[in-house]
Amino acid sequence: MNFETLATQGFLDLKKQNNTVSTPIYANTAYSFDSVQHAVDLFDLKVAGDIYSRLSNPTNDILEKRIAALEGGIGALATSSGQSAILIAILNIAEAGDEVVTSAKIYGGTYNLFAKTFKQMGINVKFINSDNLEDYENAITEKTKCIYTETLGNPSIKVADIEGLANIAHKHGIPLIVDNTVPTPYLCRPIEFGADIIIHSTTKYLSGHGNAMGGIIVDSGNFDWEQNDKFKMLTTPDESYHGTIYSKAFGKAAYILKCRAHLVRDLGCIQNPFNSYLTILGVETLHVRMDRHCENALKLAKHLENHPHINYVNYPYLESSPDYKLAQKYLKHGASSLIGFGVDGDGTKFIEALKLFIHATNLGDVRSIITYPAGTTHRQLSDEQKIKAGITNDFMRASIGLENIDDIIEDIDNAIKISRS
Ligand SMILES: *Cc1c(COP(=O)(O)O)cnc(C)c1O
Repeated sequence: MNFETLATQGFLDLKKQNNTVSTPIYANTAYSFDSVQHAVDLFDLKVAGDIYSRLSNPTNDILEKRIAALEGGIGALATSSGQSAILIAILNIAEAGDEVVTSAKIYGGTYNLFAKTFKQMGINVKFINSDNLEDYENAITEKTKCIYTETLGNPSIKVADIEGLANIAHKHGIPLIVDNTVPTPYLCRPIEFGADIIIHSTTKYLSGHGNAMGGIIVDSGNFDWEQNDKFKMLTTPDESYHGTIYSKAFGKAAYILKCRAHLVRDLGCIQNPFNSYLTILGVETLHVRMDRHCENALKLAKHLENHPHINYVNYPYLESSPDYKLAQKYLKHGASSLIGFGVDGDGTKFIEALKLFIHATNLGDVRSIITYPAGTTHRQLSDEQKIKAGITNDFMRASIGLENIDDIIEDIDNAIKISRS
């Protein structure tokens, strides 16, 4: 099936769901066992099936299978938020004493998770403040368990060299984990460029309507966890699962199965089935929405590029972008809805003069949304950290929605005028 068909109908089983045309919401907590032996086999992970909705759920299952297929992976796990997806994706292979290598220009929430909470847990994350692949390679030590990156960095809107990073990771026997929230699989499928694990904040484009927090982890099934002795969590017995060795028992699906059987069991941050349902509704129109997001964003970026009172425009599909070549390689159809620009005027006046743009911290919504990172999302960072994250005081980050482009442009032009008065 092609992308659009999978997005709208993938893994619907009309007969199994009483001929209901849209996905039913299974709100239940528990599932009855056929027999004592059936219960034993389920608990021993010998047969597939549902036990309790903290572990798995039929509504979540449809979302998981659909996103896994859209990304070209073998399995997925839907979590309560993007943050919990990142937490589980890394804790599944790293513990106290281990290291992670990542870019300094990542989403502020991920930055805090890495710099604060992981540090408290004894996991040392090294932030690389350069586009130079050698700098990533030089940061890798015996203790490094993965390279982590974002396809399109949020909010700095840099395009990651996924293939280059995957090659380095694999040379050192570790996986590449990619946050693919901003392009979605419609614009980029990082697994095709060598990424091993994909994560999303489904809160953003996959939902699109801005009504459901959620996250997802997708496993490519391509990484060989037994190639070295770095991943003992996957290759040695888990006492909490009757001595199961995940890599032996589940082969290619070892990683994603352990995410569920171990971490979501213990941490409890599973997706609420109602939110899975809402996210499935969003995914059904993903390709149509993404086309319009890209079209509107590119038109606005070109307009701002020629505006006398705009200091700079960041949009990887502009030929003037330093990331243009990477964008052409990694992003099909367009560069998503995020635009960064510098307003030559009063930032607060600019934000408050906008009428169509909503001042909020979200992206990938059908409505145009703008944030002022230096004043909001990145306020808790020090000046030095802000510069490292690519945030200056004139910097605005907008997620261009599906409104009429002429109205969008008029709103921005008017606010620029007021910001200078
Ligand atoms: C929003 C976001 C997250 C965090 O997701 P939540 O669903 O808000 O927890 C992670 N990565 C990126 C790129 C994001 O935009």
